[in-house]
Amino acid sequence: SSARTAPEFDRAEARTAHNYHPLPVVVAHAEGAWMTDVDGRRYLDLLAGYSALNFGHSHPRLLEAAHAQLDQLTLTSRAFVHDQFADFTAKLGDLCGKDLVLPMNTGAEAVETAVKVIRKWGYRVKGIPADQAEIIVASGNFHGRTTTIVGFSDDPDARDDFGPFAPGFVTVPYGDLAALEAAITPHTAGILVEPIQGEGGVVIPPHGYLRGIRDLATAHDVLFAADEIQAGLGRTGRTFACDHEDVVPDLYVLGKALGGGIVPVSAVVADRDVLGVLQPGQHGSTFGGNALACAVGSAVVDLLATGDFQRRADEMSVLLRERLEAMIGHGVVGVRVRGLWAGVDIDPAVGTGREVCERLMARGVLAKDTHGSTIRLAPPLVVSEDDLTWGLDQLAAVVGQR
Ligand code: PLP
Repeated sequence: SSARTAPEFDRAEARTAHNYHPLPVVVAHAEGAWMTDVDGRRYLDLLAGYSALNFGHSHPRLLEAAHAQLDQLTLTSRAFVHDQFADFTAKLGDLCGKDLVLPMNTGAEAVETAVKVIRKWGYRVKGIPADQAEIIVASGNFHGRTTTIVGFSDDPDARDDFGPFAPGFVTVPYGDLAALEAAITPHTAGILVEPIQGEGGVVIPPHGYLRGIRDLATAHDVLFAADEIQAGLGRTGRTFACDHEDVVPDLYVLGKALGGGIVPVSAVVADRDVLGVLQPGQHGSTFGGNALACAVGSAVVDLLATGDFQRRADEMSVLLRERLEAMIGHGVVGVRVRGLWAGVDIDPAVGTGREVCERLMARGVLAKDTHGSTIRLAPPLVVSEDDLTWGLDQLAAVVGQR
C-alpha cells in the first residue's frame, strides 16, 4: 500500500521551492544498489545520486570512516590544521598525479574555484591584461548553478531571469576542435569542458577531442580544466574520463562521488605552477576540507586506488551496452554508453522520459530523465549483474509497451 508515501510526499513538496520535480517516492533506507521507501517497497537505484553514489549506498568502508571520524573531530575550519587533512590531500593528489589539492564542498564551488584559479594564472603567469581573461566553454555544458556558471550555460531553464551574467566566457560547439582552436586568442586563459557531458544526456565527444584540447592548450599556453565531477571517479570504467584518451588536464575538477554519498566533498587538483597562484586570503571555504570530509574522502580514494570499481564498471559496460543496443527500434532511438553510464533516447511515441521513469518506478526501478526524451542510467558501480539485468528487463518492458 501507499499508506505513508502520499502524505509524506505531499508534506515534502508543501514547504519547499519547486526547483525539482521528484518522482513520487519517499525513500527511507538504502544499501548497495537498492533503496527502500517508507512503505517498505524496494527500488533498484539506476541514478546513484547523479553519480555521487558510485560506491553504492552505505558502503561499509565509507560508513566506518565517517562513524569513526564523527567521534573524534568534524570541523576546525582551515584557520587550524587537522589530522585528516594531510592524508586526504596526499592521497587524492597521488590518484590524480598532481602536486596540490584544494578541497571545497559542492561541484559548483569547485568549478568556481577552477574559474578563479584559471583567471589568476592568466594574469599572474601568462600576463593577460587586467580583467581581460577569457575562458572557453562548450555548448550544452552543465557545470553547476551559481550565477557565474549559469551565465555560460545555453540551457534556458538554467539561465533565464538569473542575469546579469559575468563576462569572460566564450562558448564553442562541444566536440568541435576547429571551432575551439578558432576561439583561442591571446587573452584565453583556459578551456573548461566536461570530458563527457552528463546532464547534457551522456554526450560522448568524438575520440581524439580530449587529446586535441590537450594539444591546443599546450600549444597556446592555455590551461585545460576537465570537469570530471560527474564523469570521474570510476563511472566510465577508468578513474577519470580523460583516461580514455590518455589525456591529463591541467586541472581536475572533482565532486559528487568524492564524498562517497555521505558528505559533500569537491576539489580542484593541479600542479604547483597552477594552484600555487593562490595566496592566503584569496580564496576559501568554512567547510571545505573539514575533518569529516577528509576522512570520508580518504576512504573514497582508498577504494578507487584498488582499481576494483573502475574494473567493474568496465566489465559491466558490455552488458549495459548489449542490452540497450538491443532496444533500438523497440522504443529506443539511440544510446550512448561509456562504462556504467548511459544516455538512452526514448522514442517519443513511447512517451516522455518522465513518463518512462514513472513506469519504471511502478516496476521498482528508479531512474531520471534529462532533457525531455533522454533517460540517464548511472547505477552504483556495486550493482550485481543479476540486478542490472533485471533493471534492464524492466526498461525493455516499459519502452516496448505502446
Ligand atoms: N559539474 C558537473 C559536470 C555536474 O554534473 C554537476 C552536477 O550535476 C556539477 C558540476 C555541479 O555539482 P553540484 O550540484 O555539487 O554543485
